[in-house]
Amino acid sequence: MKPETLAIHAANLVKINTGDVTPPISLSTTFFRGEDGGYPGGHMYSRVSNPNRSALENTVCKLEYGEDAAAFSSGNTCGLALFQALKPGSHIIAPDDMYWGIKKQLLTIFNDSLEFDFIDQTDLNLIRSAIKPHTKLIWIETPSNPLLKITDIEEIAKIAKAENITLVCDSTFASPVLQNPILLGADMVMHSSTKYLGGHSDVLGGILVTAKKDELWEKIRNIQQTGGAVPSPFDCFLLSRSIKTLAYRMKGHCENGKIIADYLNNHPNVEAVFYPGLVDHPQHEIAKKQMKDFGGMMSFLVKGGVEAAHEMVNKVKLFAQATSLGGVESLIEHRYSVEGPDSKTPKNLLRISVGLEHADDIIADLAQALG
Ligand SMILES: *Cc1c(COP(=O)(O)O)cnc(C)c1O
Repeated sequence: MKPETLAIHAANLVKINTGDVTPPISLSTTFFRGEDGGYPGGHMYSRVSNPNRSALENTVCKLEYGEDAAAFSSGNTCGLALFQALKPGSHIIAPDDMYWGIKKQLLTIFNDSLEFDFIDQTDLNLIRSAIKPHTKLIWIETPSNPLLKITDIEEIAKIAKAENITLVCDSTFASPVLQNPILLGADMVMHSSTKYLGGHSDVLGGILVTAKKDELWEKIRNIQQTGGAVPSPFDCFLLSRSIKTLAYRMKGHCENGKIIADYLNNHPNVEAVFYPGLVDHPQHEIAKKQMKDFGGMMSFLVKGGVEAAHEMVNKVKLFAQATSLGGVESLIEHRYSVEGPDSKTPKNLLRISVGLEHADDIIADLAQALG
């Protein structure tokens, strides 16, 4: 089945005896045991599993062509579980342009127990030369935050396989509709479901999908179920509901994204635009090869430095000046001030999450704010 169909039907595969066409929210924390001591409903206790979480995991697993999926209470928790599952002393190759919150985990939580290097993964030779005998994980993020760099998933997968290193892709900016890293050779794919999967800026969540139920995956499952950083049944219900329209929302985000990127690219007060759909984006060809379309995320440099950038975000009316992304409403943010003084993000960079409003209205707002 195609993603449009899977997104609507995968979660409904469990038929419930009440006859509901859409799955009800199953709030029970505990489940009846059968006479044989087993669990005829397939669930025992809701930290371990519950019907809404299983439905969500099943859907995203299918959309990403994996063997299994584990939903967490946030995208960051996916990183946390994965890093916890590695043997202390393991070495990780991470991207230089990396989602700030997950980079911060490495720098402040795992700084004593794991080794890591942040490198420019658009250069495959830099990846090859960063590999050490104890490298266990290559974490990639594509498109990356906030510079929208594209890394070649297929080529990095070849390097990782040859060295027996696990390759994990943070594919949040793409969503499962635009990019499927497992089909390109990645071992796992991660999404902050807070973003496009949720799509309405009203639920926090994360999900990891694995190509294989190997030893590392069993550890991650154990951390999920024993640790308990799981989304509530209501969160899972909201996510499952949102995913049904994911493919169509992504069409709108991509369509608007292209229009807005072109507009900004031709604006005299804009120094540079970072959007993989632009032909002058340095990895445009790789993006074309591994993505079905280019999404609704972009960033740009405002002429006139940090003051001009601040001035611009203070003038927008339709855009909300707020962090996060992937919702129906357009958001704009000054990324450097979110990331803090250690950030390498240019100070005149603004990041946009293009929403599903009409492109003319989005452009009108940008036009009046940019002058
Ligand atoms: C938001 C985000 C995360 C973290 O997800 P949370 O749900 O906020 O914990 C990770 N990676 C990327 C690319 C993100 O945009």
